[in-house]
Amino acid sequence: MQTTVIIGGGFSGTLTAVQLVRHARSPHRVVLVNSGRAFGRGTAYGTTRSEHLLNVAARNMSAFPDQPDHFFQWLRSRSDFDAMDDRQLRETFVPRRIYGDYIRSIALHYLNPADPRNVVQTTILPDTAVDIEPRGRGGIVMLQEGEPIEAESILLATGNQPPAGLPGSQRIANDRRYIANPWNPWHEQLPPKDAHLVILGTGLTAVDVIVTLRHLGWSGRITAISRNGLLPQRHFRGIQWPDAIGDDGQTRSLKELSTLIRQDCQRLRGASQNPAIAIDKLRGRTQALWKSLSVEERQRFLRHYAAQWNVLRHRIAGPIHDAVTDAIDAGQLTVLQATIEGLSANERHLQIHLAGEGDTPRTIDADMVINCTGPKARFSDTTVPLYQNLFQRGVARPDAMDMGLAVDDSFALQPAEGHSTAAIYAIGPLLKGTLWESVAVPELRGQAMQVARTILQQQPDPLPQSDLIEYCI
Ligand SMILES: Cc1cc2nc3c(=O)[nH]c(=O)nc-3n(C[C@H](O)[C@H](O)[C@H](O)COP(=O)(O)OP(=O)(O)OC[C@H]3O[C@@H](n4cnc5c(N)ncnc54)[C@H](O)[C@@H]3O)c2cc1C
Repeated sequence: MQTTVIIGGGFSGTLTAVQLVRHARSPHRVVLVNSGRAFGRGTAYGTTRSEHLLNVAARNMSAFPDQPDHFFQWLRSRSDFDAMDDRQLRETFVPRRIYGDYIRSIALHYLNPADPRNVVQTTILPDTAVDIEPRGRGGIVMLQEGEPIEAESILLATGNQPPAGLPGSQRIANDRRYIANPWNPWHEQLPPKDAHLVILGTGLTAVDVIVTLRHLGWSGRITAISRNGLLPQRHFRGIQWPDAIGDDGQTRSLKELSTLIRQDCQRLRGASQNPAIAIDKLRGRTQALWKSLSVEERQRFLRHYAAQWNVLRHRIAGPIHDAVTDAIDAGQLTVLQATIEGLSANERHLQIHLAGEGDTPRTIDADMVINCTGPKARFSDTTVPLYQNLFQRGVARPDAMDMGLAVDDSFALQPAEGHSTAAIYAIGPLLKGTLWESVAVPELRGQAMQVARTILQQQPDPLPQSDLIEYCI
């Protein structure tokens, strides 16, 4: 019987196991190795806080590319949403923990080993994969605790790397006032309500923290600091925009693209519309456009445009945006644009040392600091043992952007020079350098189905059109 080991049981790994069950026609064994976060939920949907909402409307969050209404129908099974009509429910941004329940319920349904109709036997193994020794077409997965597992195919669905450290963060790593990982339960040790809390970062994770502080009624002072000082924008309903950059199948240089996007933004502003529509309308083509850029162009994009792109692209639900705006209006939240040079501590405070311009202070005292600067981006100096070992063996190599693992079009790992390709695959945020957009459910559900079909040696179906065009608007 063929064995597949899936490493990582967040959305991507769990849905791949489900797709293997849905599509397998002959006996198959699947071992889902997962540690760190609750199986099925991963980092994003493992939150237990009801104020953390999805940033994609319910209509676009089906776990199945071939059943676009699946999540909406599942929500209809819950009494929480009885008061909403269908139109409202489709446009709702539901709590992320409910989305975690959805993935868990799908897993329970499909991965049930007691179901005699299943030709796939699935085992969920709580453990950490630390290495893969190539063997035949596949390899042997080494685990931290358990026995090695030999498999004909292996999938890495390990998500983002842990947060990167900041200069000086090693020195304060054991200080209770410093929260290195914002996914740990920091709210149980909040300082008094007249204290000063500093958030490093102003992206989606920082917004999670601000919203929770408001939800808890914590009334102290909050400062959020990032290099660009930009908070995510609010979601709005998209519009028909016939002037959007057309898909004429041509490849374009970054210079041409940036000129076209700037012109489109100007036209939108002229029509009193949000310029983010220019980015939304490119959504189904973003991966192809990224792939057609040279490495130098992609690097230039990251240096000059990525921060602005992310702000326009990764928008937040209305109620979340309201909470952040209220915090600013009430004088509770200050957003600072500055570069963090280092962190230190004295008896009274943690200190954040800044390089900034104009009125930006050089040092800020804080009673608590939460690091929301996001996962470590670079892979060549990764501290994750699994990737270190794969690089050392030549089984995998960082992609050309050093933002993930190099893969081919079927998501098979590209080995280092002189090593042969094995049936080892990667999906999810590990493909960010290859595809740029490879983090949200509308991309990951397609990847999970595609890689499952490849593992089963079936021809992957083309994605339904709805997945290619309207994505996360
Ligand atoms: C806070 C947040 C909110 C988001 N909100 C949305 C949203 O509203 N809509 C949307 O479309 N997208 C959203 N996303 C993006 C996206 O849906 C997630 O990033 C997605 O869940 C990624 O899933 P994944 O399975 O690839 O990775 P993860 O969810 O990170 O799961 C990886 C799992 O693998 C485990 N693991 C890692 N290494 C090993 C190992 N060596 N051995 C064993 N286990 C291992 C990890 O502990 C984890 O459980 C959000 C992301 C975040 C972080």
